[in-house]
Amino acid sequence: MKVGFVSLGCSKNLVDSEQMMGMLKGAGHVLVSNPRQADAIVINTCGFINPAKEESINTIFEMSRYANKIIVVGCLAERYEEALREEIPEISAIVPIHDYDKLPSILKDLLEQDGEVPYYNGLRTISGNPWSAYLKISDGCSNHCAFCAIPLIRKEQKSKLIPEILEEAQLLASMGVQELTLIAQDTTKYGLDNYGQLMLGTLLKELDKIEGLRWIRILYMYPDEIDEDLLQAMKESSKVVPYFDIPMQHASNRLLKMMNRRGTKEDVQALTQKIRTMFPNAVLRTTVITGFPSETEEDFEELMEFIQDIQWDRLGGFVYSKEEDTPASFLPEELTVDPEIATNRLTRLMETQKEISFQSNKRKIGQVLDVLVEDFDPIAHLYHGRSAADAPDEVDGQVIFTSENSLELGTFIPVLINEASQYDLYGQALDSTH
Ligand code: SF4
Repeated sequence: MKVGFVSLGCSKNLVDSEQMMGMLKGAGHVLVSNPRQADAIVINTCGFINPAKEESINTIFEMSRYANKIIVVGCLAERYEEALREEIPEISAIVPIHDYDKLPSILKDLLEQDGEVPYYNGLRTISGNPWSAYLKISDGCSNHCAFCAIPLIRKEQKSKLIPEILEEAQLLASMGVQELTLIAQDTTKYGLDNYGQLMLGTLLKELDKIEGLRWIRILYMYPDEIDEDLLQAMKESSKVVPYFDIPMQHASNRLLKMMNRRGTKEDVQALTQKIRTMFPNAVLRTTVITGFPSETEEDFEELMEFIQDIQWDRLGGFVYSKEEDTPASFLPEELTVDPEIATNRLTRLMETQKEISFQSNKRKIGQVLDVLVEDFDPIAHLYHGRSAADAPDEVDGQVIFTSENSLELGTFIPVLINEASQYDLYGQALDSTH
C-alpha cells in the first residue's frame, strides 16, 4: 500500500516519525512523498502551543482531500483524542504515542489488506540528509515547568536503556550517519528514572566508541543537571562537540520560581562561566519566554541584561502561550501580560541578540572550521554546510562557501572563514576533503 507521512513539530516528533516510517517500510508499505498517490496518510501532529495546534488541524483537513484514510498520531492526538474524533470525522484512526508499534496492523485493518503484516522490526528511516540523524534517548518529562503541556501529553520521563540506544546508534552509523544529535525533553535527566542516577555522561562514553560517527551533539540540557561528570565526559570525548543548548526560559529569579524552574540566574551565570573555561570553543544556546504571567518591564530588563552579559551565541525566543491545564493556566487572570507587550518584548530581545550573534560570528573570521557539506547551489556556485557550532535545525546558521574542487555532499571539509553576517558565515574551502 502507498502511505504518505507528514511530520510536524519538533525533532523529537521527527524521530518518532522516522521510526514509524521504518516500521511501515518493514511491513511492506511504500512511502510516497506526493499525497495524491497515497492510499493512506499518517500525520504526526504537534500540540505544543496554539499555532502548532492550528497547523496540525489544518494539515489534517488538507490531507483528507487527498486520501480517504487519515491516521493521526502525536501530541495533539494524544491530548485531544476525544475532541478530534468528534469534530473531525475525516480521521480514520488515532494512534496513541505508546502504541506506535501497532501502526502497521492498524493500517492493515484500515486498508483491509490480506495476509499478516509484521510489527516494527527495528528499522528506521532517515527522512533528512542521510549523514545526520536525531536519536531520542528518553521520552516524556518529569520537570513540570508551569507553562508546559508536555508532561500532560507525554507523561513522566521514560529513558531508554543504554544497550538499546547503542544498538540504534550503531544501526544509524552503519546507514552512513556521521552526525548524531541526542534529544529528549530533558537530555541531562537521562537515566534518572530507570538507572536511579543521571547517566548521560556514561552514555556519551559508550557512544564515543561507535565507529563512523564524527559529531555527537546534545540538545535540551537542563542547567542544574549539567554536572562535573557530564562535563568531564564531554571533554574527554573525541566526538561530542562542545555545544551547549541550555533552555533558560527567563532570568528573573521570581519568574523562574513561578515557572517551576530549578536554579537561579546566578547558577546559570556560574555554569556558563565554567563551561567557557573548560571549553574555549563552547557554543552556548538558550531559549527564553517573554510575557509569562506577571512579567514586568523590570523583569524583562533583567532578562535583556542577562542576555547581554552571557553573550549567548544563539538564542531562540517564544511569546508565552497559555496552555490549558498547565499550572500556569490557573494563575489569576489579572497577571496576564498583554500579548502585544509580550510580542514587542520578544522583538526587542531578538534585535539585541542579532548584534550578539553578529559579534560571535565575527570572531570566527580568519579561523578554519571543519564543515559538513550539505548542499550545493549550482546557480550561485556556492556550497552550504554546517560547522560543529551549528545544530541541524532552524535556530542555527550555516557556512556558505566556495570551492575550486567539486565536493561530495556529506563529507567534511576545512573552510577558511572570511566574512560573517548575523546568522551565517562565509568562506572558502581549503584543498581536498579529509
Ligand atoms: S523541561 Fe520543562 S519545558 Fe521542557 S519539556 Fe519538560 S516541562 Fe516542558
